[in-house]
Amino acid sequence: MSDLHFDNRFVHELPGDPARGKAVRQVHGALWSPVDPDPVAAPRVLAVSREMLSTLGLDARDAESPEFAQVFGGNALLAGMQPYASNYGGHQFGHWAGQLGDGRAITLGETVNAAGERWELQLKGAGRTPYSRTADGRAVLRSSIREFLCSEAMHHLGVPTTRALSLVATGEDVLRDMFYDGHAAPEPGAVVCRVAPSFIRFGHFELPASRGDIGLLRRLVEFCIRRDFPHLDPDAPDVVSKWFGEICERTAVMVGHWMRVGFVHGVMNTDNLSILGLTIDYGPYGWIDDYDPDWTPNTTDAQRRRYRFGQQAAVAYWNLGRLASAVAALDPDVTPLQDGLARYVATYERTERDNAVAKLGLGEFREGDLELVESLQQWMRDTEVDMTLFFRGLIDVDPASPDLSSLEAAYYDDAKRDAGQPALRDWLARYAARLAEGPSADARREQMRCANPRYVLRNYLAQQVIDRATAGDPSDIDELLDVMRRPYDDQPGRETFAQRRPDWARHKAGCSMLSCSS
Ligand code: AMP
Ligand code: MG
Repeated sequence: MSDLHFDNRFVHELPGDPARGKAVRQVHGALWSPVDPDPVAAPRVLAVSREMLSTLGLDARDAESPEFAQVFGGNALLAGMQPYASNYGGHQFGHWAGQLGDGRAITLGETVNAAGERWELQLKGAGRTPYSRTADGRAVLRSSIREFLCSEAMHHLGVPTTRALSLVATGEDVLRDMFYDGHAAPEPGAVVCRVAPSFIRFGHFELPASRGDIGLLRRLVEFCIRRDFPHLDPDAPDVVSKWFGEICERTAVMVGHWMRVGFVHGVMNTDNLSILGLTIDYGPYGWIDDYDPDWTPNTTDAQRRRYRFGQQAAVAYWNLGRLASAVAALDPDVTPLQDGLARYVATYERTERDNAVAKLGLGEFREGDLELVESLQQWMRDTEVDMTLFFRGLIDVDPASPDLSSLEAAYYDDAKRDAGQPALRDWLARYAARLAEGPSADARREQMRCANPRYVLRNYLAQQVIDRATAGDPSDIDELLDVMRRPYDDQPGRETFAQRRPDWARHKAGCSMLSCSS
């Protein structure tokens, strides 16, 4: 652990809050406030990501050392760490919310590994900060398990994401009103160490812009370009436009992946969108079981469904518009920002085409392919078909043969299945006709296997692990993480992890719906 080398550019190059302590306050003219994690009673490592350990130059022995639990539970600092909470604002559910900031996230420092990669280490749930407002700065075990597992599962699925190094139980309870019904109860607490090259969010730019602090905004943009987009020439006259265009492109690519694997973020507020196009802030997220573009796991959003599955691309665009409005304060010419937004649209359209081609194994895009996949999606929705199981099962269907047995596991409703068979046959005939001009059968299957995971972190799978861990047995976390390491491979003996959502999970909290309480 002593080999970790820190180079904390965020605190060295950007203005910090001169005030000390955890008193809740509005912080002007500064992008961060120094704050130490609050110690916890009995830190115990419940899980680590071995991939993230090795990326940082650590190994299993480090993770087993008492020092590791102390540092990543928030009780000790390593030489070179300079903990802080960062200052940002955001639009929440479409409305400007003012200053938000890291209310329960504390960055420990930026470590640079042997390969020269910069990784920021950030504890989530490590206690109060000046941005905690009325909340406690802590996180419960259930939401920490979800964040830990999903960060790594998304990485293995090939989706841009922040990562997770460790999950540490605090040995302390946290009081939460899970259903917001006035029944708060103690729950075990935990701290996740998340890791990313940068945790800068859209809201970091919105806050100084909203306050008319153009100097601070400019410093942050220049810093972000230098540190997080080092391939751009910081002195080029059009660098801000290139930078914004790249953010647009990365955001489109990220959402394209979400749509490919059936991920619903759940809280796409502008404070929860990463400047690097990484999936960030795993809260009430969920995975599509039966294909339903109107589904959201977030109970807080159940009425309007602003952040439903099928809406995510439009919301990301809206969020980029908020970022553009903030950055526009730097330059009266907004044409480059409009070009960036157009780049989002073009990139997202490309990802839609790529997804259609890869998920159906069509080789290369042809006119009509989008229509082909869209008519399938409409049928999946009408027929209540499991998204993951259907596409995976489709790999083993020869569209010219009547044998559809590989799709059997994907149906949630027998009557709808039977009613949907004629339409499915029609669709398969169109699919077969398209494939006749496409790749070989083997090439089709290979392309589909790489785009359609067999295993995703279904909500009920995570909930089962959470229930066991809450009862005192965290060992299932490792097994589920291990399954998610190779989501595109058939893993003999692990069929139970690739089943459709069981009936009992349909309306159970944590399995089909989640509150923001975490
Ligand atoms: P989220 O909806 O999780 O992205 O959080 C929105 C804002 O609330 C952010 O500023 C968080 O830091 C803050 N927040 C959420 N939960 C807590 C908590 N338990 N303690 C302090 N701040 C919190
Ligand atoms: Mg957040």
